[in-house]
Amino acid sequence: MAIVRFIGLQETLNRKPVDFKPAFQKSSEFFGMHVFNDKAMREFLTKEAYLAVTNAVVHGSKIDRRMADQIASALKAWAMSHGSMHYTHWFQPLTGATAEKHDAFFEPTEDGRAIEKFNGNMLVQQEPDASSFPNGGIRNTFEARGYTAWDPTSPAFIMGGTLCIPSVFVSYTGEALDHKTPLLRALQAMDQAATEVAQYFDRGVTKVHATLGWEQEYFLVDSALFNARPDLLMTGRTMLGHSPAKGQQLEDHYFGSIPERVIQFMREVEYDSHLLGIPVKTRHNEVAPAQFEFAPIFEEANIAVDHNSLFMDLLEKVARRHNFRVLLHEKPFAGINGSGKHNNWSLATNTGTNLLSPGKTPKRNIQFLTFFVNVIVAVNRHADLVRASIASASNDHRLGANEAPPAIISVFLGQQLSQVLDDLEKVENGKLTPEQKTELKLNVVGKIPEILLDNTDRNRTSPFAFTGNKFEFRAVGSTANCAQSMTVLNTIVAEQLQLFKTQVDALIQKGLKKDDAIFNVLRDLIASSHKIRFEGDGYSDEWKNEAARRGLSNISDTPRALDAYISKESLALFKSMDIMNHVEVEARHDIMLEDYYKKIQIESRTLGDVVSNSIVPTAIAYQSKMAESILRTQEVLGKASVALKPQIALLEEIGVRIGAVIQGVKDMTEARKNANQLQENRARAIAYCDNVKPYFEKIRYEVDKLELIVDNDMWPLPKFREMLYTR
Ligand code: ADP
Ligand code: MG
Repeated sequence: MAIVRFIGLQETLNRKPVDFKPAFQKSSEFFGMHVFNDKAMREFLTKEAYLAVTNAVVHGSKIDRRMADQIASALKAWAMSHGSMHYTHWFQPLTGATAEKHDAFFEPTEDGRAIEKFNGNMLVQQEPDASSFPNGGIRNTFEARGYTAWDPTSPAFIMGGTLCIPSVFVSYTGEALDHKTPLLRALQAMDQAATEVAQYFDRGVTKVHATLGWEQEYFLVDSALFNARPDLLMTGRTMLGHSPAKGQQLEDHYFGSIPERVIQFMREVEYDSHLLGIPVKTRHNEVAPAQFEFAPIFEEANIAVDHNSLFMDLLEKVARRHNFRVLLHEKPFAGINGSGKHNNWSLATNTGTNLLSPGKTPKRNIQFLTFFVNVIVAVNRHADLVRASIASASNDHRLGANEAPPAIISVFLGQQLSQVLDDLEKVENGKLTPEQKTELKLNVVGKIPEILLDNTDRNRTSPFAFTGNKFEFRAVGSTANCAQSMTVLNTIVAEQLQLFKTQVDALIQKGLKKDDAIFNVLRDLIASSHKIRFEGDGYSDEWKNEAARRGLSNISDTPRALDAYISKESLALFKSMDIMNHVEVEARHDIMLEDYYKKIQIESRTLGDVVSNSIVPTAIAYQSKMAESILRTQEVLGKASVALKPQIALLEEIGVRIGAVIQGVKDMTEARKNANQLQENRARAIAYCDNVKPYFEKIRYEVDKLELIVDNDMWPLPKFREMLYTR
């Protein structure tokens, strides 16, 4: 009887896999079926309207009203052919989630009938009553309204029977209130800057787009157990719980056989993803028990960002159908691995070249080195901003918290490419002799093998690693919207490419040949960016010391990491690259600080509640049961019996720990009150970080000890072993 501690666990143990029965078997039959993709556009749009959309996608040209009417009517017809009766502008406000407000196509007519209506105006712009979205003061200072506007570069799709139109969200005066607007601006800046540099090597390049392939890690927990944990419900992570006897030390979960219930879930996720055109390809168990990963094939970055947001939404929806809850939090369980979202990033040209992939010819490899070196230099110059772009309350549990990857930003190149850069650094100043050039092409550039993949992907401890034909930004949090890191990365690289081009052109003006000029600038850039290159173990203490010596920052908390957004350099960068003006950056900074302290505040309240209402009463009940038993034993064996000693000691331990827990909650509440007095968001966020958060560990320590002592049948929360191993 005592095996099953509570109803939720019984429910979990009785679960059968929910069989997923797809309508189609082969992805080729249904991939992209719910997307207004090229095939749908050709079928539903006039030739003229089709060209208007494709021109907008490729060249960013405007779509006029008449054309918008045509497109709207085609979209409506297409959506209705799939049974859709509603539409929504789908956008990504600064809350981190996606937003949608559905409207019906339905419209009553004067004679008492109804028609389905959707025109160009409705497609192009909407004015949601969006006063509850965070705006960092932007809309208070200007106008109370916010608009969503259609982003034709990301195709519309049908989700849950509603036509979703990817949109940007801006204030009445044009300030970005979302994640997508700055991303689109950054991608455009990247296109321009990279195209100009790529033309040094290939005149045929007229467009460069950033590519993104994200790898999404997550945990699955049975919904009955999830619902019995207030901390999971409120904060997405467990704030209490002793590590199970078996964690991940046997390394038996990684790439292990996937449990049947999980497989059914994964199949449905893949199916729904493919309907939505999300090219999910890989699925596997991750390192921690109950941890898994999905990865798609990479796509143009704007679409990949949308797809990741959509995918996270999808994971949650499908998980519920399988009686699971998906945990996207970076650190749902202390003591075992957390989750990240690796952002694999590269640059692709309209001519089909991956600019970060070495090739067969020296020319191709000089091009590769140009882009490769400029990325490194950009990260070196803006390392703190790169760090800020991945800062969040939940990602603080990974970065700098003895876990993958460290909060110190560095770049891993691999031994071969490090050697190539070292050799390039020796290039002589000014004009190169024909012999020097031959030597360079044969022995430096020529040394780069076409396929680098095998010897570059090994350093798992680097936050930003070159992996053969792309960079992998591994420090991004699993809950993050990829737009933030992608906006920063593309902005800094675009800026660096502009600087590079200016320098090369100046040398060409001075009479240097193009190749000589490029080699000269690259040499100086390599020399300027040693500090960011690191090939060793990013988790080690030696690296922390070494990084400090090099002058690299190691900022382990969000409120301070975010400062880099509003540094003089960052503000100037965003402004000069036309990504965000000062008002937009400052507003964003403020919103992120607010998000931070609110999350810690919610965690603190949740912890206080669970501890006061569940843990302490349970521990007291057990304490009283034990005291009673000791009294009775004394009656039988006599007070002096040796049998009683250990029990009395245990009883005392329980009492002392209960006392410490009660005091901890009291002090934490006091610290919260003090923090709430601070009006400025940064000061309040820092107070929450420095004065409130430290109580989490203190309280938890005592509670986890109590968990080990108190009668298993009485413990009110599902335990780690139950959440991690019952499926
Ligand atoms: P792993 O890192 O697991 O060994 P891969 O390196 O093959 O696997 O790919 C990981 C992710 O990187 C996938 O999402 C893949 O689509 C993506 N990727 C591969 N090439 C590129 C590229 N040129 N640009 C962006 N992402 C890429
Ligand atoms: Mg990878």
